[in-house]
Amino acid sequence: MSDTAMWSHEHDEMDECVRALEAVHAFLHHELADADADVIRVHLHACERCMENFDIESTITEMIERSQPAQRAPAGLAARVRVIRRTLR
Ligand SMILES: [Zn+2]
Repeated sequence: MSDTAMWSHEHDEMDECVRALEAVHAFLHHELADADADVIRVHLHACERCMENFDIESTITEMIERSQPAQRAPAGLAARVRVIRRTLR
């Protein structure tokens, strides 16, 4: 029954993590206002789980920016990012 235990985490904490992860892309692209970016930064530093996710996200973003500097992410890679994000939740 360890699968069930995995999903019975406290929900308030999860909500904050979901919000942080949703804003992480804007954060990485410097699209957040300073105050919003600070909220994300503080949460990432306080939350080990998000810090791990953030490392993954920033690595992916770096990959995308390196391979397609002037364009949006290729469809295949964007789809893979969505799969990874779903896996993390
Ligand atoms: Zn978190």
